[in-house]
Amino acid sequence: MRSVIQAYRFALDPTSEQVDRLRSHCGGQRFAYNWGLARVKANLGQRAAERSYGIDEPGLTPSLSWSAYGLRKDWNQTKDVAAPWWAENSKEAYSSGLANLATALSNWAGSRSGRRKGSTVRFPRFKGKRGALSCRFTTGALGLADRDRRHVKLPRIGVVRTHESTRKLARRVEAGTARIRSATVSFTRGRWFVAFSVEVERHTPAPAGPVSVVGVDLGVKSLAVLSTGEIIENPRHLEQAQRELRRLGRQAARRTGPDRRTRQQPSNRWRRTQTRIARLHAYVANARQDGLHKLSTRLVRTHTTVVVEDLHVAGIMRNRRLARHIAGVGMAELRRQLTYKADRHGATIEVADRWYPSSKTCSACGVVKTKLRLSERIFTCGGCGTRIDRDLNAARNLAALAEASSPSCGATGNEPDGNPCKTRTTRATGTAAGRPAPQGAGQRRHRKASTQDTHLYVS
Ligand SMILES: [Zn+2]
Repeated sequence: MRSVIQAYRFALDPTSEQVDRLRSHCGGQRFAYNWGLARVKANLGQRAAERSYGIDEPGLTPSLSWSAYGLRKDWNQTKDVAAPWWAENSKEAYSSGLANLATALSNWAGSRSGRRKGSTVRFPRFKGKRGALSCRFTTGALGLADRDRRHVKLPRIGVVRTHESTRKLARRVEAGTARIRSATVSFTRGRWFVAFSVEVERHTPAPAGPVSVVGVDLGVKSLAVLSTGEIIENPRHLEQAQRELRRLGRQAARRTGPDRRTRQQPSNRWRRTQTRIARLHAYVANARQDGLHKLSTRLVRTHTTVVVEDLHVAGIMRNRRLARHIAGVGMAELRRQLTYKADRHGATIEVADRWYPSSKTCSACGVVKTKLRLSERIFTCGGCGTRIDRDLNAARNLAALAEASSPSCGATGNEPDGNPCKTRTTRATGTAAGRPAPQGAGQRRHRKASTQDTHLYVS
């Protein structure tokens, strides 16, 4: 048994009064965030100004505390003046905003001093009215409704009906293997959601069935090509919606939109079109998410090791011609899903190095080509003359990487028939007889071993 933090997210069907309260809480969260940010900015500006007058460090205005605790303390001292209406919402709304601000500030400070990895984090900015709505509750009456799998309890908001059954979480709570830590409400894709952060007791899964390795080559033409030869088509949800999106775009252009210069308010008809556009985008995003979830679940359930490439998605996204197509596939999302689902199902995810030439290597003899244009859909080997689909070749190379890293493994994704003894017997004869393995096989294994050392890491 091990304890993991897991999120359970449910779509809500709130009443109109509940929607008002939800919006009010999210607004309170935003207010507290902006209030805290304004104070921090004023404080930083004051200190910078004093420094420019030549005041020495101890003489400066004392700096404000950036911790969630410190910000909350300041808020509680000033809230009667700054927000006399504060009692309308749960105090959690304001705490949530201040906690977010504390995180944003520490991320910025960490990024500036080099303590934080990843891309540069900018100084937090004020949140506008049109931004995403969300609010987190950490204390109070929150959780599932008793003996009812269609309602959740939220502090000050009340018992809200869920759009879907809460069965999956309810069973765990009833069995005593889950503890709800917090609830976050948010408005996304035209809908209210609640996400519970839950501490779950999980059994450490034993990998079911025989060892099987699958290499997954992600692409745009087809969503994924597996080393078993299976091709998962790219459903191209966005491309299919493009026609309708273009039509709605033209419709919006004919109607009166907002104009900042003339302070023109948008017409109701313009708003209606915008709602339609948002709904279509939500439909596309949901369809994409659904397909990815189905694929990632299937992969970790049917294979013990899944090998994927470490694609530099953010880098490819900078390419204007490819960006929309890459985003339409959701490769990074698939990686994320595979990683956490593998952990749940006892499978392993191996990530090939970004510079591993999975497409340029021949999966039959191991010869690496120096050049391979993106337009060459069929890989033709100059060494052994193999002709194979480009993506399938890459997928097989990825699977071979994992086989090289685990010498005890038997059946592979390359052999759909799954002869578990095949690889092991050839290797055993090679060593037991006291002579090196056949020339070809030895070379191949050596090459793989070296790539493993330099290019492969197990996530
Ligand atoms: Zn070859």
